[in-house]
Amino acid sequence: MDDLDRAQDLEMASRNAAITAQQSKQVKVTLSHCQDCGNGIPPKRQKIGGVIRCIECQQLIEMKQKRGL
Ligand SMILES: [Zn+2]
Repeated sequence: MDDLDRAQDLEMASRNAAITAQQSKQVKVTLSHCQDCGNGIPPKRQKIGGVIRCIECQQLIEMKQKRGL
């Protein structure tokens, strides 16, 4: 049983590492247009860095994340 638990821990750790790598990659990307709706992202917002969505779509995503979807 211990071996199985350890294997699952390892699997989870490597999965978390992959997710973290993916997220840090996304942070560096800044788009001039929203990846969801294609609307232009205001230059002021682009300066924040790592912006890939317009304000409306970002709010939608954040709302969904808060709900755990
Ligand atoms: Zn959008």
